[in-house]
Amino acid sequence: MRIQGRSVAVGALLGAGLVVAGQQVGRISWRPVVAPVEMAQLVIRRDAKGDGHFGAPRSGHVAHRGVDIEAPLGSPVRAIRSGRVITTGRHRGRGLYLELDHGRGLRSLYAHLQTVEVATGDGVRQGQHIGTVGKTGNARHPLITPHLHLEVSSQGQLVDPSSMGLTLVDRLEESSDALGGN
Ligand SMILES: [Zn+2]
Repeated sequence: MRIQGRSVAVGALLGAGLVVAGQQVGRISWRPVVAPVEMAQLVIRRDAKGDGHFGAPRSGHVAHRGVDIEAPLGSPVRAIRSGRVITTGRHRGRGLYLELDHGRGLRSLYAHLQTVEVATGDGVRQGQHIGTVGKTGNARHPLITPHLHLEVSSQGQLVDPSSMGLTLVDRLEESSDALGGN
């Protein structure tokens, strides 16, 4: 039973590698990630200024580089995997942000933060509190719902964080699936 479940999981992980990395199948070893915010569900941002899907259109003919996960201002941000802090700083668009290196070419970036709780060079454990959700950079507009911008890259290529085992909920798709429900 246990072995069976495990082989299914490995198959799913290889599938994710196929989608995101094309020819690099086999070189990526996805391992489980944890939710970057402590919400019952990870809900993708949708508001008057746009939606937070990976690849969603942004001004200037660019695509959204990560996913926007709704969370209240000041709520804790967690490292999706263990690693090391390689950048902390402020950026015009990202606002206050930090980036982690998880090894093997895998990196995660957390943007629009209110605070950063770690310093460049620090080692972090999976799930460690590394900052808090804010509204800095492009997210400061009043019509933008507070959220965490999570960006993941592998070997320098952006990947959809939902392909790594995070379950992201889209309220629009949910409501059309179950009219009259919550
Ligand atoms: Zn974003």
